[in-house]
Amino acid sequence: MSTKKFLLDEKDIPRQWYNLAADLHGPLQPPLAPNGAPLKPQMLAKIFPGNIIEQEVSRQRWIDIPEGILELLTLWRPAPLRRAKRLEEYLKTPAHIYYKDESMSPAGSHKPNTAVAQAWYNKKFGIKRLTTETGAGQWGSALAFACNLIGLECKVYMVRISFDQKPMRKVMMQVWNAQCVASPSPDTHAGRQILKQMPHTPGSLGIAISEAVEDALADKSGKSRYSLGSVLNHVLLHQTIIGLEAKKQLCLAKEKGPDVVIGCVGGGSNFAGIAFPFICDKIHGKKIEIIPVEPTACPTLTKGPFTYDFGDTAGLTPLLAMHTLGHGFVPEPIHAGGLRYHGMAPLVSQAAVEGLITPRAYDQVKCYESAMLWAQTEGTICAPETSHAIAATIDEALKAKKEGKKKVILFCYSGHGMMDLAGYDKFLSGKLTRYALPLGKLRKSLAALKRFPKIKRSRKE
Ligand SMILES: *Cc1c(COP(=O)(O)O)cnc(C)c1O
Repeated sequence: MSTKKFLLDEKDIPRQWYNLAADLHGPLQPPLAPNGAPLKPQMLAKIFPGNIIEQEVSRQRWIDIPEGILELLTLWRPAPLRRAKRLEEYLKTPAHIYYKDESMSPAGSHKPNTAVAQAWYNKKFGIKRLTTETGAGQWGSALAFACNLIGLECKVYMVRISFDQKPMRKVMMQVWNAQCVASPSPDTHAGRQILKQMPHTPGSLGIAISEAVEDALADKSGKSRYSLGSVLNHVLLHQTIIGLEAKKQLCLAKEKGPDVVIGCVGGGSNFAGIAFPFICDKIHGKKIEIIPVEPTACPTLTKGPFTYDFGDTAGLTPLLAMHTLGHGFVPEPIHAGGLRYHGMAPLVSQAAVEGLITPRAYDQVKCYESAMLWAQTEGTICAPETSHAIAATIDEALKAKKEGKKKVILFCYSGHGMMDLAGYDKFLSGKLTRYALPLGKLRKSLAALKRFPKIKRSRKE
């Protein structure tokens, strides 16, 4: 009998998060006000609580996880590291395939790792209510779950296309006492403007972020804040518990470490979670290939330039230095809703610029084929987002076979697909199409960025 699960005791859960900002070579480009001026802290203070802003700008390598957050995380953590033995056998690969199973959290993905941390910090700061956006509904349900645990109100703006495709996600949010509306909505100025211009828009994460930020700013009591499920430094920081656990678990599995680390990327948080602790090793001399995988329909890292852009469509957020397809970009309604974001986390973008990671893009049909093979060998039905990581894992395992190398491949199984069966249904009935972003459409949406400040690059990059 072979061991397929590598489990950590609760007492062995990591006590600190890892902050990649401490180890990157280049200076991180600071967020800027829309006119290009340095950002005033007051600008952020209306959107986020002070304790989170402190984390956002921290350059400290290790940051203690407060006991109160560990209490919440241990509801489902440490998460298992599993070995995909049956997939290895099917592929006849000498590679060992390990995956960190983040699908066992209450909301079914990695997102509660940061949701409980953010809710906890907001509560500590005296905040009463959080607003947010959600794509596929994973983040909205994660934050609803966390707010309910901690005793905060929660309002979620859900991208219209997902609101229609995944109505059960809304029910989950309601079970956890949150309010969920389709975005663009008539509840905000930004939403009303967009509905007037594009009444049939499928919506986008950029639009929903505009609505959620506007809503938080509009609360005159000062007790509302906004919460973001990916992209920002503090969110990525909270997710590093994934890779830190995986490191300990690979030791339990008696592996020297991974040769390849893979994660799908929307805003970059689950990828950062599994990869950043290993990027640290890579910076300090280890040879590891680290691969973020995105959809060809929303190829932020592989096709988007590294430049200043807004995090949202209406331009309410600061300008962030990142790979972007343009804040006005509305991706095709592909099924991996969580990967339909125009930007990329600044920390992940900077790691790409420094050559620490090698991004690639896959088409959704290839990804569903991989998800099917996964379900038929390993048994579990993955989220459409996760299927991108699985597709790359299969390619890497086949490459190892060709090279005759016993590589160790580690990927992040970011979530289950039990709420996403409509996408599988479309795939099974042959209705899913291949889609790659036409360059003409990209050029058009990038034109809007011309007036923004340019990034000053260091000479070594
Ligand atoms: C949200 C989500 C993603 C993409 O978001 P990241 O911030 O890039 O991790 C990936 N997988 C699942 C299951 C998700 O819910």
